[in-house]
Amino acid sequence: MATMQLEIITAEEVVYSDQVEALLAPGIEGELGILPHHAALMTMLQPGELMVRKNGEETFMAVSGGFLEVMENRVSVLADAAERSEDIDEERAQAAVRMAEERIAMREADVDLEQAVAQLRRATVRLAVARRRRPGSRARRGPSPDS
Ligand code: ATP
Repeated sequence: MATMQLEIITAEEVVYSDQVEALLAPGIEGELGILPHHAALMTMLQPGELMVRKNGEETFMAVSGGFLEVMENRVSVLADAAERSEDIDEERAQAAVRMAEERIAMREADVDLEQAVAQLRRATVRLAVARRRRPGSRARRGPSPDS
């Protein structure tokens, strides 16, 4: 099976470094699918879910935006923040959702609406990624039959 080197780093740490088979990342212009020997590419990322496939197994991570570069079969993700599904504190993300929603609802002059919306987005992504680690969560992927 063909592979490529993937590095996901933040200012604080190396979150992921391994040979992988495929990557799905939230590009600012839409979902990016990257397979080994992809053409050179540079793009910004938006807050969203990142999926890595290695040995046929999928790992999910939350990224809070950043930058992605593909060069010579090597993918580098420089993320503002990135957490593996199992490292996400679900209660903290839930609290962040509530706090952002309250700040948005207040509509007060001292609330930076753009910042509150961005915080809501990051927290919502974290919740979605945290829920991936529950048994059976893969079966719920995609639209349900009656949607
Ligand atoms: P918070 O409401 O917790 O401040 P935030 O979205 O403002 O969230 P960020 O600035 O995106 O936080 O991230 C700050 C640091 O905290 C990063 O290192 C990030 O990985 C980590 N982090 C934020 N939320 C969570 C979470 N729910 N679980 C685990 N780590 C988190």
